Amino acid sequence: MPIHWFPGHMNATRQAIKDRVKAGLDVVIELLDARLPGSSSNPLLAALTTGRPSLKVLNKQDLADPAMTARWLEHYDAQAHTRAIALDAGEKAPARALVKACRELAPHRGGLDKPMRVLICGIPNVGKSTLINTLVGRRAAKTGDEPGITKVEQKIVLEDGFYLFDTPGMLWPRISVTQSGYHLAASGAIGRNAFDEEEVALELIAVLRRHYPERLKERFGLAELGTDDAVLEAIGLKRGAKVRGGGVQMHKAAEALLADFRQGLLGRITLETPEEMTAWRQAAAEE
Ligand code: GDP
Repeated sequence: MPIHWFPGHMNATRQAIKDRVKAGLDVVIELLDARLPGSSSNPLLAALTTGRPSLKVLNKQDLADPAMTARWLEHYDAQAHTRAIALDAGEKAPARALVKACRELAPHRGGLDKPMRVLICGIPNVGKSTLINTLVGRRAAKTGDEPGITKVEQKIVLEDGFYLFDTPGMLWPRISVTQSGYHLAASGAIGRNAFDEEEVALELIAVLRRHYPERLKERFGLAELGTDDAVLEAIGLKRGAKVRGGGVQMHKAAEALLADFRQGLLGRITLETPEEMTAWRQAAAEE
């Protein structure tokens, strides 16, 4: 069953973005999960900020496959008015790369008379709070006080004449690509009760089998990869999810696999390629 999930706060967030566009916006930063850049992006953000240059920040790069991250960066850099960088939100000095990329995207802005106004957005759990905390360091985050701006907008002064605006809440699009729903659930972006862990684990096994079969074997000591169900069962046996009588508690096996993936214990993994994402989007649009 495809995953659909609609957390609250959407209208307030949408309004806050519209207000920011009206008040002045030079660059939109979209924070993406480097393990699932396509699935963690939000088409609604592009629709609300049309014409503004876009900086894609592939966060959690420490968990993603470096070769795949390079492909995704290339993919975004080839798009008009778009640049992409990869980082870990916990890095000591992520501000430098971020500020530099924004300046390249909006070279006419800067200085106190023409400050750079940057909006940062991202889906839940992508690492926005962590990144903002790292960026702010000891500086206090200030609340927006410009006319027409909701009080909830946060204004962070990164440097003199360089303002980072943070909207409240999150933008959550309709998940139109089924595969994206699974990737988002596997990554931990979707509330636990909104999906079936066993179903998501089986999808994750299918992806791992395609792109990283050796990691799956190594992590769980499997000599062979049988069917997806057989793999999940074998993981359950390794992780003590046996029931009396010899069966396996499949949901426990699923939890074990998802927890390992989220913690990076299967190694650095990216779930999707730019080409796959394009094909899935096309197929979804034709449906
Ligand atoms: P938000 O919902 O977007 O504000 O996300 P948070 O900043 O609360 O981060 C969600 C989770 O991801 C937390 O457990 C963070 O510690 C973790 N996290 C954030 N950024 C990174 C990163 O670059 N690498 C890794 N490994 N974990 C991260």
